[in-house]
Amino acid sequence: MRVLVAGGAGFLGSHLCKRLLGGGHEVIALDNFYTGSKSNIKDFLTNPNFELIRHDVTVPIEIEIDAIYNLACPASPVHYQKFPVQTLKTSVLGALNLLELARRLNVRILQASTSEVYGDPKISPQPEEYWGNVNPHGLRSCYDEGKRAAESLFFDFNRQYGVDIRVPRIFNTYGPHMALDDGRVVTNFISQALSNQPLTVYGQGNQTRSLCYVDDLIDGLVLLFEKPEIHQPINLGNPTPVTMLQLAEEIKTLCNSKSEIVFKPLPSDDPLQREPDITKAKEILGWTPVIGRREGLQKTIDEIVSRVS
Ligand code: NAD
Ligand code: UDP
Repeated sequence: MRVLVAGGAGFLGSHLCKRLLGGGHEVIALDNFYTGSKSNIKDFLTNPNFELIRHDVTVPIEIEIDAIYNLACPASPVHYQKFPVQTLKTSVLGALNLLELARRLNVRILQASTSEVYGDPKISPQPEEYWGNVNPHGLRSCYDEGKRAAESLFFDFNRQYGVDIRVPRIFNTYGPHMALDDGRVVTNFISQALSNQPLTVYGQGNQTRSLCYVDDLIDGLVLLFEKPEIHQPINLGNPTPVTMLQLAEEIKTLCNSKSEIVFKPLPSDDPLQREPDITKAKEILGWTPVIGRREGLQKTIDEIVSRVS
């Protein structure tokens, strides 16, 4: 198949391109390089099955392909909050433009949705049936509401036009090739620990996240894409939560760092808890993450060390 990966130069997008190329597909990566980087895809540039297009998904595109993965959207709160109007446009117009393309070509399309559709959840773990608790006008709403509107568009294109959609709700994912300056917790803590700078825990550090290693997540995305007729949201994430304070301590130990841990103000609307209920992914896809946090963090640290040294 010739597969379009929108956001293909980003963290998850570049891992997905690699997986699809390895599976014998032709891959066209489309990216505006807002948070993505050519260094993420440099290994594929000489591969005859790989093409790169600089394009913004808010603008319609005509291209002949057999399948679409839409990952185009900044994922780090620092970056999606810097230009919030663009973030919302990327989610909504990007979804609309790519759905129109999928409809015209009659091809399957996957939307990288997110645990952020649950906002600051009142129940834990979060099953797909939970409708969420989202501030519609807060600092995170450009991302949360953008992704919620994109989900609406995906399900309406399925109901109204029969477009063959896949909607994974991705929980926090980490691993090699994350941008070091993207402000997300894993890269912040690792960069700080490696340079013996203080690890900045926001709030008291008792908020939880469930961290999935990228290889597990990509397995889940591809399994979901390839499974017929899954027209419902599916949570993909590691079901083991960790507090941010515990994570800081783990990364400090793994980096053998002398850093102290300092506490900074908690950003507004920062969700207190995040834990996926992955019953559906297990039952429908036979998917469960296999890489534990210690192993995944070690691989991530090793890659960052090799990149900066
Ligand atoms: P990322 O920021 O590394 O990648 C996003 C990519 O999209 C970048 O290459 C960026 O340049 C590109 N992009 C942004 N706006 C664009 C636009 N208007 N037109 C074309 N390209 C554009 O983030 P990531 O972690 O790889 O996330 C990929 C997708 O997965 C995003 O849609 C994100 O919302 C979703 N997601 C990620 C996580 C996670 O923990 N990594 C969790 C939930 C959902
Ligand atoms: N966080 C932190 N220190 C940092 C960066 C983030 O304590 O240097 C916290 C942040 O407040 C949040 C969690 O780590 O509670 C995850 O943040 P991230 O930006 O990685 O993703 P989010 O899940 O909030 O979108």
